[in-house]
Amino acid sequence: MATYAKAAIVREVGKPVVVETIEVAAPRHGEVTVRLSACGVCHSDLSATNGTLNFPLPLVLGHEGAGVIVAIGDGVDNYAVGDHVISSFVSLCGHCHYCQTGRPQLCVQSLKSQYTLPDGTVRTRDAAGKDLNVFCGCGVMAEVATVHMGNVVKIDQQMPLDRAALISCGVMTGVGAAVNTAKVEAGSIAVIFGCGGVGLNAIQGCAIAGAGVIVAVDTSDEKLELARQFGATHGFNVTGREDAGKALFKLTGGGADYAFDCVGVGKISEMAWGVLRRGGTAVIVGISGPKDQIVLSAQQVATSEKTLTGSYYGSARPQLDFPRLIGLYRSGRLKLDQLITRTYSIDEAPQAFADLNAGKQGRGVIIFDAA
Ligand SMILES: [Zn+2]
Ligand SMILES: [Zn+2]
Repeated sequence: MATYAKAAIVREVGKPVVVETIEVAAPRHGEVTVRLSACGVCHSDLSATNGTLNFPLPLVLGHEGAGVIVAIGDGVDNYAVGDHVISSFVSLCGHCHYCQTGRPQLCVQSLKSQYTLPDGTVRTRDAAGKDLNVFCGCGVMAEVATVHMGNVVKIDQQMPLDRAALISCGVMTGVGAAVNTAKVEAGSIAVIFGCGGVGLNAIQGCAIAGAGVIVAVDTSDEKLELARQFGATHGFNVTGREDAGKALFKLTGGGADYAFDCVGVGKISEMAWGVLRRGGTAVIVGISGPKDQIVLSAQQVATSEKTLTGSYYGSARPQLDFPRLIGLYRSGRLKLDQLITRTYSIDEAPQAFADLNAGKQGRGVIIFDAA
C-alpha cells in the first residue's frame, strides 16, 4: 500500500528546494520501507541543488537518515518491521568483486542506484503522478522512504536516531577517511583542510586514531574553534595567507604524515599534497566539480614516494563500521551531540539549505514528527 509523505525535492538547479507531499510505494522484492526519524543536511545534497553533482531532476534529497522499518518486501530475511536502521548511500550487493575484496563502498550495485533503486525504477511519485528520482538510492529527506535492503544497516534500538543519522554520511566519511583510508598512526601529524561536517569528523577520526598533532585549516575562526572541540591541536586561518603552504610546512615541523582535503577543490588537494613530508599520504575526501583538476610535479611524485588517494564514503564497510562508530559514541570517544548545530522540521528544509549554503558551522538535521 502506498503512503503519503512530505519530502524535500530539488526540481530546478540553482533554485531553492521545495517541500512536497509525495506518494511512496510499498517495498518490492529485496526492499524495505522506512519511516524516518531524522535526516542530516549534507553538503552533497546542496551540491545536487546547485549542479555541482549532476543528478537528473526532479530528485528527492537525503542520504543521511535514520528511522524505523515499517514494511518489508519479499526476499528480505535479515530485517523485520520495527528494526531501527541507518541509511547507507552506497547500495551493497554482497557478492561483486568489490564486496568480495572488502571494499563494498565501491560496489557495482551502487552504480546502478545513483538516482533510482538498483533495478532502475523508483517508488516515489509526485502529486501529478510523475516519478521522482532519489538521491543515491535513498531519498531519505522524507517522512517515509522505500529503499533497497542493501542501503540500510540495522542498529541497536537504544541508539538515539537523530545521532545515528549523522553516522551514515558525515561521520562515516570523515572518521573513515582517517581510520579506514589513511590508517592514521598513533603519534603522527595530520593536516585537515576544511572544518565543515566532514572535516570535523576527519579531525575526530585522527584524534581517535591517536594522531599527535592535528592541524585544522579553514577560513573561519569560528569553525577553527569548533575544530578544537573535535580534537584539533592547532587552528590555521588561511584567509589572506599567500604563504599558507610554507607556513603549514613549518608549523608541522617539516611536513605532515597525512593531509586531508575535505573541501573538494583541486587547488586545495594540491595544497594538501604540498604540506606532506616525503612518504606522506594525501587523502581527497571532498567531491569537486567534474572539471576540476589537480596538477602535480610528476618528478616529485616519483622521488617523494608520497601517496595521493581518494576516500569515498570513508572507505566504509557499513555493516561493520556503523556499529563500531556507535560503540565509539557510547564510550564517549566519538562526538555526535556536538555536531548537531541546529534542527529543522521538514517544512523548514529550504531554510536548512540556505543556512548550509551560507557556511553556517556544523550540521543541520531535519527531525521528522513521530507518527
Ligand atoms: Zn553526505
Ligand atoms: Zn557489491
